[in-house]
Amino acid sequence: MTNRVDDILRRNSLSVTESRKKILNLFLSVQGALAHGDIETKAGEKFDRVTVYRTLQTFVEKGIIHTIPTTDNSVRYALCKDNCSEGHHHDNHVHFICDKCGKTICLDDVTIPEVKLPKGFTPKHAEMVVNGVCDDCK
Ligand SMILES: [Zn+2]
Ligand SMILES: [Zn+2]
Ligand SMILES: [Zn+2]
Repeated sequence: MTNRVDDILRRNSLSVTESRKKILNLFLSVQGALAHGDIETKAGEKFDRVTVYRTLQTFVEKGIIHTIPTTDNSVRYALCKDNCSEGHHHDNHVHFICDKCGKTICLDDVTIPEVKLPKGFTPKHAEMVVNGVCDDCK
């Protein structure tokens, strides 16, 4: 586990810091996404909110994690696949959020359909979220 963390940081030319290691380990240890608040709680004993926030921003910029929109405006993050890189995310998959427990997963195999835009319009970013009930909650 530790090696994978070091690998990911090194591959993205990030120095290995305690906060980066801790937060990346959180992502590697869960299935699915983490809410910003959860990360703050879990890393909060050792790191302040600003450090947690900056670490997450850095990971998003480097293409290590991506954000997931939610209806309640709480940001969630999930690990990217290996084909994301700095400034180039390829997370055009659909996300599922459970209305009961909040579990959020990446549906990596389900891509967002291409939307035909009016002439002259250029798409930049699209998000699709399916809300429902997960198998634990039904
Ligand atoms: Zn990505
Ligand atoms: Zn659920
Ligand atoms: Zn995702």
